[in-house]
Amino acid sequence: MSGLKTIARFFAVPDDPHLVQAQARAFTRQVPLMYGILLVNTLVLAATHDTAPDLLRLYIPGLLALTCIFRIVMWLHNRNKPISNDQARRMLRSTVQVAGLLGIGFPLWALSLYNYGDAFQRSHVAFYMAITGICCVFCLMHLRGAAMIVALCVVTPFTLVFVMSGNPVFVALAFNFAVVITALMWILLGNYRDFAELVASRAEMERKQQETQRLSDENNRLANMDSLTGLPNRRWFDRHLAEALETAKAEGRQIAVARLDLDSFKSVNDIFGQITGDRVLAEVAQRINSLRRPSTMVARLGNDNFALIMLEKTSEVAMQGCGDLLTAAMRPSFETDLGIVHLSASAGFAASRPGDTADTLYDRADYATWVAKREARGKAVVFTERHADELSRVRKLEHALHTADLDAEMHILFQPQFDVSLGRTTGYEVLARWTSPVLGVVSPVEFIPMAERIGMISKITQTVLRKALLVSAKLPRSLRLSVNLSANDLASTTAVEAIVDLVESYGTPCRVDFEITETAMMRDMKQASDGLVALLALGSRIALDDFGTGHSSLTYVQKLPLDRIKIDRSFVKDVTSDATSRAIIKTMVELCRNLGISCVFEGIETEEQLDVLLGLGGTVMQGYLFGRPMSEADMLERLAGQNKTWQFHRSRMFGAAS
Ligand code: C2E
Ligand code: MG
Ligand code: MG
Repeated sequence: MSGLKTIARFFAVPDDPHLVQAQARAFTRQVPLMYGILLVNTLVLAATHDTAPDLLRLYIPGLLALTCIFRIVMWLHNRNKPISNDQARRMLRSTVQVAGLLGIGFPLWALSLYNYGDAFQRSHVAFYMAITGICCVFCLMHLRGAAMIVALCVVTPFTLVFVMSGNPVFVALAFNFAVVITALMWILLGNYRDFAELVASRAEMERKQQETQRLSDENNRLANMDSLTGLPNRRWFDRHLAEALETAKAEGRQIAVARLDLDSFKSVNDIFGQITGDRVLAEVAQRINSLRRPSTMVARLGNDNFALIMLEKTSEVAMQGCGDLLTAAMRPSFETDLGIVHLSASAGFAASRPGDTADTLYDRADYATWVAKREARGKAVVFTERHADELSRVRKLEHALHTADLDAEMHILFQPQFDVSLGRTTGYEVLARWTSPVLGVVSPVEFIPMAERIGMISKITQTVLRKALLVSAKLPRSLRLSVNLSANDLASTTAVEAIVDLVESYGTPCRVDFEITETAMMRDMKQASDGLVALLALGSRIALDDFGTGHSSLTYVQKLPLDRIKIDRSFVKDVTSDATSRAIIKTMVELCRNLGISCVFEGIETEEQLDVLLGLGGTVMQGYLFGRPMSEADMLERLAGQNKTWQFHRSRMFGAAS
């Protein structure tokens, strides 16, 4: 049974679709040739047998010739046409069947002529059968079954008839032919195996190539895609911006770039956790995408930063309109499993100008976003001429700061902090000043955020701290200096260690305190809090600066090792006229008292403000009324002359008798 199956499989058309296709391709070239040879040889054999009856000389060869012509036309017609695997299989199956029929038909006809000729004509029959048979087997070599059927159909009657003829020459001929056809079949079977293997290995190679291509396409897609939001990423954005700009330039068009930054997104991660933060980011991406025009491309540049490339509508009004839509789309709350998240986003737009590079264009959009964050948080700002002037100054400043000799160009001023209950100046806040040889005096309000942005703040902190430590050694023991720290100074262990090392190199316990802002805490509460502990270990005290302007989160006040809170001058400014400011200040004073920490008021400029603050329970004061930021020499001179102001205030507070 299994032997029959093996034989059936031997003659059957193979299952492998690649092999079937390859066989069909080879056949479209070789089979018409085979029928051509059959046709010609058959006609020639018929022509040499003029003594045979018409049936054998004309009609049967005519029918066989017509069959050949029909098959040639059919094969040529299907040549170069793409065919399906099923079609190819059907074609090959019919070839095997036709090979069987014709394999019987042609030899029988040829042998039927055997009795109608002389020795030469009989030799022609033998030659015709042998040579045409070998030719057909060769032409069918790519389909093992067909080649074998033809070989058997030719060799079997040939051998029988010629052996039975009794003529020793024909017997020898039959023997020769049987040997040749056997050897030929053996070779062809080997070739067929090689052919099948070659096709299989080529198919495998193609499969591997396709797999490699698929993986490389996938890699490429992943390398250009942000997996969280499914949007293109920074790499994709950079490449497409450069390409879009080049095309626009060549076509004399403008394009626009927008950046969209979520405001205080960090707090979403802090409060709700990263998984919720990620979901919010994915929804932000969806909201942006839903507003996207077909000609606009959206990408996520990283964290909470998104960017758009707009290929049309770059007028200021159109950009503002688009920006308003985008920022408005961020305002509706985001509903998450852990609660409702409220967000806003600031956006900056810039249109391309002749001569722009991708970097300069992006730089302008970036600057517009920065302006939006600073001046119109939660809204969109379009880059205009005003911004161009500012940006050019900012870049000049950045360059000057980068190349500054900080030791020589920076100096520090000291502003007194006066404790009215003790009746003396208890310390000085250290304020940095930068005089650039190129740009002149630059306010810290300008250069400190810039230094943070360009990664130079640590160097500035080190310079200011070094100078402050030198001065602190010259001051009476009762006086402390307060140095301002930026968020970046607490953002990493390395930055904190640099501060600790510097302080320790001047000897501890030190008389330098530090002022930090809430932004330092917001980035990474744990890291910042560890940093503060390291600073406390030096003997320093920590003040929370500008309280009331940022988040004013009681969590920070409660959880951090703070010694004092500095109430921002914006509250002090209105304290005489605004009942709300007074109420807030009263609450803050109460809060500090309950927590056992001191409270410093900033920016006291008038006697009236001081009166109100004293009435509300304030004790430590800082502001122009008590002294403007002054040089080291002025401070030392003032200390030497002792504090006359105190006499005045003391008498006001506690009466002339005291
Ligand atoms: P700040 O730490 O809140 O410093 C107080 C600012 O208020 C100082 O401005 C000071 O001159 C000003 N000021 C003090 N009293 C009055 C007043 O009565 N009225 C008015 N209108 N202003 C008053 P300054 O020196 O321009 O510094 C501004 C900010 O720059 C500082 O605010 C601080 O955040 C930052 N800064 C200054 N020096 C440094 C530093 O060395 N490192 C860091 N990281 N930041 C610094
Ligand atoms: Mg300060
Ligand atoms: Mg302050």
